[in-house]
Amino acid sequence: MGNSQPQRKKLVIIGGSFAGLLILDKVKEDFDITLIEKKDHFEWICSLPHSMVDLDYFENEATVDLKQCISVDRVFGPNVEYLQGMVTEIADDHSLKYKPTEGLDSDQGLQDIEEETCQFDLLIICTGSVYKINEKSAKDAATIFSIKERTRLIKKYHDRIDSAKEILVVGGGSTGVESLGEIINKYGDEKEYNMITNQDRLLHGFPEGLSRRASDYFTGKRTFKDLHLNQYFSPENNQSEDHNFSLMCAGMDYYTPFMNFNFKDCVDQRGRIFVNQYFQVTNQDPTQQEIGHPKTYDNIFCYGDACLSCMQEVKNVPAIRETSYTVKKNLLAIAYGGKLTKMSYAVDQVAAVYYSKWRGFLVLNDLAIPNCATLLAKKSIEKTFMSKFKNKCCGKFRFCIYNFQVNFSSCYLNTCCCCCPCSKRRRYKERRAALRALIAQHNSEEEKNPLFKDGQEERMIELKSK
Ligand SMILES: Cc1cc2nc3c(=O)[nH]c(=O)nc-3n(C[C@H](O)[C@H](O)[C@H](O)COP(=O)(O)OP(=O)(O)OC[C@H]3O[C@@H](n4cnc5c(N)ncnc54)[C@H](O)[C@@H]3O)c2cc1C
Repeated sequence: MGNSQPQRKKLVIIGGSFAGLLILDKVKEDFDITLIEKKDHFEWICSLPHSMVDLDYFENEATVDLKQCISVDRVFGPNVEYLQGMVTEIADDHSLKYKPTEGLDSDQGLQDIEEETCQFDLLIICTGSVYKINEKSAKDAATIFSIKERTRLIKKYHDRIDSAKEILVVGGGSTGVESLGEIINKYGDEKEYNMITNQDRLLHGFPEGLSRRASDYFTGKRTFKDLHLNQYFSPENNQSEDHNFSLMCAGMDYYTPFMNFNFKDCVDQRGRIFVNQYFQVTNQDPTQQEIGHPKTYDNIFCYGDACLSCMQEVKNVPAIRETSYTVKKNLLAIAYGGKLTKMSYAVDQVAAVYYSKWRGFLVLNDLAIPNCATLLAKKSIEKTFMSKFKNKCCGKFRFCIYNFQVNFSSCYLNTCCCCCPCSKRRRYKERRAALRALIAQHNSEEEKNPLFKDGQEERMIELKSK
């Protein structure tokens, strides 16, 4: 596309984190782009467990000044404008309202700020999720706008961890496990440790060997007191009084009040935004059977943590990277004509989880490979992103390599080689069978709906662009 386009369309991206910046980099030449992000910075949230025990690291390594990156260093080229503001309402399919947040630390004073309007030809919602540590509500966590305020908050948790004699980590997912690993790594036997999870094992959702090794590592520590499985934590019950500091690592929320006015039927109860197979926003819950004719907004897309898709992909950075290619193709198809590309029915679960500095796993679907370099591998990917965003030398090159598209189909969709160890696993077989059933169901729905028969999609788009 690029220069051959007579007039570039206006694309607005809401959210300047992983999903927003990855897609921005992919389409920066093809549109006039406005990125609306409520914060003045990008944070490498994956290293939050480390940031909470190392403030210097948080301030110097884990954050990027977005104004410097986009408007001064022009890391994404000349066609991109950065607007610091919180989107408050998507008014219709060509305009939205936002409140400028530059200079604000938190929502104090936000109510006095006048709303402004922004027009778009295409919109992509990348508003992700909200991660509460010990903040009371999703809104509290979602209305931190400045790096100053975020640093104050991280420092608060850092100081509480530092002064506590006994620590309870609430949540046995990857963030809980990595946080406990980081705290033990820093304080060793100086403190006593406990962990509570409402699941029957740590790292639920990952292969069992990983859970076992992490549990054995923690429970083998001299000052590790209790691992509570299948239990809910309630701050009111006595358990919390026994501990000096309870660190909540209990998962994420969604905060999408900007959908509540005109797009209320496009979100589920948790605030996740429904998308169809092209990542276009729709009022059809993709996890439910289609009834009647769903309304789809051709020019409004959503991907990343914020969206709920029929693929129900794992929400992490590799999955965002993988899906961003489809989103790019479809943005271009809608803007300039072309064939829409369907999302795959599955992306592989690629993850890296560590529980101590030199112990961790690389995970591919149901295969977990123990190794001593997990943390190093994670740091290397972080460095790749951060050196690009901070306009450091080699940044562009490393980022290009990371983003190089490899067209492997998911392990779940291709017939796996019989010697592949993951094909032997029960969970793999179950998930594969479930996916095949889902594909069969979608295929039969498409058969019934002449609009979506193969070959028709291209014509539909051509007609629309005419
Ligand atoms: C503690 C933690 C550790 C993690 N560790 C890993 C890991 O090790 N590896 C991995 O692959 N994944 C990890 N993840 C998951 C990964 O970080 C997410 O999948 C990823 O951040 C999602 O990116 P996103 O851009 O979709 O959303 P987000 O990162 O949530 O970003 C959304 C952006 O939109 C902005 N925004 C929201 N609402 C508005 C609005 N109304 N107006 C303007 N801007 C708005 C937000 O300020 C934010 O910048 C971790 C997540 C957490 C919370």
